Amino acid sequence: MKITLCGGGNGVHALIPLISNNIPCSIDVFAPFEDEAERIRRGVEEYGKIEASGDFGIISGIPINVCKEVEGLIDESDIIIIVTPAFAHETILGAVIPHLKPGAIIGAIPSRSGFEFIANKLVKQYKKEDVILFGGQTFPWACRIKEYGKKVEILGKKSYITVAAIPSDKRLKVGEMLEVIFAMKVEVASNMLAITLGNVGQIIHPGIMYGMFRDIDNVIYHKDEIPLFYQGVTDKISSILNLLSDEICEVSDRIMEKYRIDLSGVLHLKDWLLQSYENEIEDKSTLTSALVTNRAYEGLKVPVKKVDINKFVPDFHSRYITEDVPFGLVVSRAISDMIEYKTPHIDKIIHKTSNWISKEYLENGKLVGRDIRETRIPQNYGILNVEELINLVQ
Ligand code: NAD
Repeated sequence: MKITLCGGGNGVHALIPLISNNIPCSIDVFAPFEDEAERIRRGVEEYGKIEASGDFGIISGIPINVCKEVEGLIDESDIIIIVTPAFAHETILGAVIPHLKPGAIIGAIPSRSGFEFIANKLVKQYKKEDVILFGGQTFPWACRIKEYGKKVEILGKKSYITVAAIPSDKRLKVGEMLEVIFAMKVEVASNMLAITLGNVGQIIHPGIMYGMFRDIDNVIYHKDEIPLFYQGVTDKISSILNLLSDEICEVSDRIMEKYRIDLSGVLHLKDWLLQSYENEIEDKSTLTSALVTNRAYEGLKVPVKKVDINKFVPDFHSRYITEDVPFGLVVSRAISDMIEYKTPHIDKIIHKTSNWISKEYLENGKLVGRDIRETRIPQNYGILNVEELINLVQ
């Protein structure tokens, strides 16, 4: 099997040794961003491998080709897995799709929200309708690069991940293949809409940032004062996360009931945490305790940027906002519009967080703000109602 991984961050570093350890295959890397391809090649040349360490011990893998250019890399790939923040998906899909062989499988893990809209548009544009698209609800491991092109640390592993595919009748094939590649349980959701609405990053990341910084966005930390992110959640912040999750589940329930489409894969945040991190959470009693006592989140801090010697401020341009608002919350808000369901808590968080990144998505309560074209709302792809949404994902 020939696998191409797209990206050059934590996730791609982790997948090289993990997949190599699971199945005999050849792994190539398409890393178009800046000089990442060259840096990965250099790291592998110097160290001889990419090594992953975790509670399982140490494993390693060696990518065959690591390229900045796509030509010659994709034509024979059986499966292409994109592991980047969602704002990079379009660039990567646009480069890769023209080169796909018939029947190739291409998807993103995680796909976040609305991956299916852009992927479907490009597949049609390049007349590659014979490929299979997939999206994963989340990335299966928590991981961080220790040395670029050389070492990555695996902090935790989810109990399972959920994936879906287009066409949806290929979902079991995709699920079985990913189960082998990842050597973990893969749940198969009925359709990609369940992945889009079930995107938990849209709740956790903007929700915690909002909860922590809505009133103190000018805070400055010394290095040893930077708070923990997930494990820094208080009951007050959890209540915000619960409200976001309630609204998304309500949107999903209403669509399920009215349109008879299976969205049972859209879970409430606490249920998702307990199921995904079954073996990592010590105290499962509340949403706060499920976050704070989750070993996979240990040591992960608030994203910050350095402003002076030993002075750091929260980084409001981190992917927790730039990915999870336009490719998450805003998409769910757009779907709620289609069923005329009001989401006051989602709106409040979109307002504050988009302000932090100088973007305008909502204007007078409508998704017509000046930057709305940059988001992955279905309306941007000509999908204007639930029937059209269902038509695409089924
Ligand atoms: P990362 O921040 O390490 O990776 C970023 C990579 O994306 C870059 O290295 C680059 O290769 C690519 N990229 C960024 N901007 C780009 C652009 N403009 N054009 C092309 N490529 C670009 O991210 P990661 O930690 O590997 O995470 C990837 C995805 O997985 C994200 O959606 C993240 O939210 C999710 N995720 C990660 C973890 C984790 O522990 N790392 C856990 C759960 C989910």
